[in-house]
Amino acid sequence: AAKERGGAITVEFDDSMRDTFRFRHELEQELREAIRTRQFVLNFQPIVEAADPNVIVGFEALVRWKHPQRGLIHPAEFIPTAESCGLILYLGDWVLEEACSAISRLNARGGRWADRYVAVNVAARQFLSASFSARVGELIMRKGIDPKNLRLEVTEGAAITDARRTREVLEQIRRWGVKTSLDDFGTGYSSLSYLQQLPFDTLKIDKSFVANAGETRSAQIVRTIVELARSLDLSVVAEGIENASQGKRLASLGCDYLQGYHYGHPLTESEAFARL
Ligand code: C2E
Ligand code: MG
Ligand code: MG
Ligand code: MG
Repeated sequence: AAKERGGAITVEFDDSMRDTFRFRHELEQELREAIRTRQFVLNFQPIVEAADPNVIVGFEALVRWKHPQRGLIHPAEFIPTAESCGLILYLGDWVLEEACSAISRLNARGGRWADRYVAVNVAARQFLSASFSARVGELIMRKGIDPKNLRLEVTEGAAITDARRTREVLEQIRRWGVKTSLDDFGTGYSSLSYLQQLPFDTLKIDKSFVANAGETRSAQIVRTIVELARSLDLSVVAEGIENASQGKRLASLGCDYLQGYHYGHPLTESEAFARL
């Protein structure tokens, strides 16, 4: 439309753009309010041993928004906006602190909890922020938790943005004794060269490969990822296992750990406690 008016560089909002803009703006305002008034809750999804799926090795903490009018909202609907407007730094910090509190509550129960971990998703922007590793150390000390009970999951986005800085942060985190996972592996711009430079402990194979692992080509990709992980001394988690045959297949392809609805949906904290 701008061109038809003689090439003038004007951009007109049509109704759908205006709605999108207004929606994002409203969502941002609501998110701000939600962070301020703590409308979020963590769910915990079990991660099990491939060799014996009855053994839970840890839980992934997954954030949900308990919206006062709209009910429970899943991260796909607000994490992208939180990332683009910067609120992810505050939300992510709340998630990290809440996960550390959950770890200390679980620790207080003693016994079988001692070597289980809680894995926390960290956005690229949060991970690369100047204070991140110091914040991790501060929380470990303040909450009095054992660093082996905490894990951090980062996607390839961080490494893409700044590989050198990512390496630096990974090394700082490792010094605290906290392990890290590269999440959604295979979906981003997976570059083998940065993988070799970055000291992750675990690769999480994205669920898109799991869903198709019955097909020869996907199975071959999983096999290759597992081989790569072995050669770099990384353990492998397969995500998104929805049935027993997928679980068997991914275990036979060499994955060390499995996660998915078949072994457990994301649970409330007390439901998760009860699983141990
Ligand atoms: P993710 O880190 O890859 O987490 C796994 C997602 O897969 C979760 O979705 C989980 O509920 C879902 N899932 C688990 N098992 C299955 C399965 O068998 N089948 C299928 N189809 N899905 C399964 P969720 O909770 O909706 O989270 C989506 C994404 O949002 C996460 O992907 C993560 O990238 C992001 N996210 C969640 N919580 C946080 C958080 O606290 N901070 C940040 N920065 N991102 C978060
Ligand atoms: Mg994750
Ligand atoms: Mg993932
Ligand atoms: Mg994801």
